[in-house]
Amino acid sequence: KMGSFQPHLEKLKKLMHINDVQLALISDRMLQDMSIGLQKSTKSNVRMEMLPSYVDSLPDGSERGAYIGLDLGGTNLRVLLLTLTDSIDGGAKFDATIKSESYKVPNEKLEGTSAELFDFIAANMVDFAIKNGLEEKMLPVGFTFSFPFDQDRIDHAILKQWTKAYNIKDGVGEDVVQMLRDAIARQGSLKFEVVAVCNDTVGTLVSGVSEDQNCQIGLIVGTGTNAAYLEKVSNIESVNGYKDDRFMCVDMEWEYFADTGALNHFVTEFDKQVDATSPMPGEFIFEKMISGMYLGEIVRLILCQLASVGNIFNEKCLGDLGTTGGFDSRYVSDITEEAIAGHGETNVVKSILASVGVKASQGDVHTVQLVCEFVSIRAAHLCAAGISAVARKIKANHPEKNDLVVTAGVDGSVYAGHPTFDTLLEDKTDELCRNHGVKVQFIRAKDGSGKGAALIAAVLTKVSTLVLT
Ligand code: BGC
Ligand code: MG
Repeated sequence: KMGSFQPHLEKLKKLMHINDVQLALISDRMLQDMSIGLQKSTKSNVRMEMLPSYVDSLPDGSERGAYIGLDLGGTNLRVLLLTLTDSIDGGAKFDATIKSESYKVPNEKLEGTSAELFDFIAANMVDFAIKNGLEEKMLPVGFTFSFPFDQDRIDHAILKQWTKAYNIKDGVGEDVVQMLRDAIARQGSLKFEVVAVCNDTVGTLVSGVSEDQNCQIGLIVGTGTNAAYLEKVSNIESVNGYKDDRFMCVDMEWEYFADTGALNHFVTEFDKQVDATSPMPGEFIFEKMISGMYLGEIVRLILCQLASVGNIFNEKCLGDLGTTGGFDSRYVSDITEEAIAGHGETNVVKSILASVGVKASQGDVHTVQLVCEFVSIRAAHLCAAGISAVARKIKANHPEKNDLVVTAGVDGSVYAGHPTFDTLLEDKTDELCRNHGVKVQFIRAKDGSGKGAALIAAVLTKVSTLVLT
């Protein structure tokens, strides 16, 4: 297959390719940065945050009751009611049912004030309560907030930075739990009580635990990307007053990993362009090579360049491809899906190209498929380098265990919606872990982040004041 590539595609493939030796070095670097980031005195030498979450107890199946999970992500707000009841098959573990609503975060809320954003959240909680007859119920709320924040306890979170497409002028340095409580109070009618806050990766980890007790990693590959894992408290310098054998979820905030320059060797001219036109240039370099907010944009920029040198699209007019954001990451998934089906059909890719306003020949279509493939492989392999480092860190905490297997709970639009990302991630992680005595098993934690927050609330309050019947 390789041999039949046009020279420009050959060049592009090389440019986007990160080989196994290089991936192993990236994994080493990530592992090193994790340890550095856990120490107060050395933390300033790395950009990953390694934030203690104060989630130090995990669901064990004995939880019962009704809980609200609230999940503010990159694109949507999700409100859910988690009900934990005795298992119908008589086991000690709960049966969980979820009712949920999703609300798209309107663009103007991404650019307004934090009070406007939290009023939007609280108003939708009221909507959800009304739809589900919960207006009068006192229910504990677990809040998933998909941004970096400092914690000194489970219901206190000082926002460090707005990320992804959020361009809100205030709120940094403030407690998001208080902001949420205030917004709920402004609505006047709700009796819900916010008892915990967590990052989406931490929520996903906890949700993974409810499916597989061996889950020690939470991974998000969605609009943004990040991971959390179970770390020994004795390794987290800023956390005191625990017995040494305890564990706590640490929110890595790995989207910052490469902001020290760790991946400069692999950053292409396309990545530089993505960065330059992003809301926060110079930051989140790792995330910009992996997550859904950027994959389509990388593909778009590559296609524009191929067009400008006359390699594809035999016309001047590039349609939407000519403007920033003109090619959705969703398209990368859909095009890949058709390409791997192996029937040689090209209806999907053609209609996508037509919908963005470009006319493509059969050869162009093939090129577009390959570009999507190169960009996807690089993203999944970088993610694998990261996860292999996390697995090796966990392994280092369990030197007594040979051939350790750890489960990673994963959620996010890229992981769930892209047809090859999961397999690419899994296979490369296997290879990178092979010589380190550890293996990662991936499970899809569907709706994991919101469910996880509700489970954290459940662990904290054990049996909520109200058991729905
Ligand atoms: C945020 C992280 C989050 C990740 C996945 C990043 O942009 O900064 O806190 O976990 O996206 O949603
Ligand atoms: Mg999310």
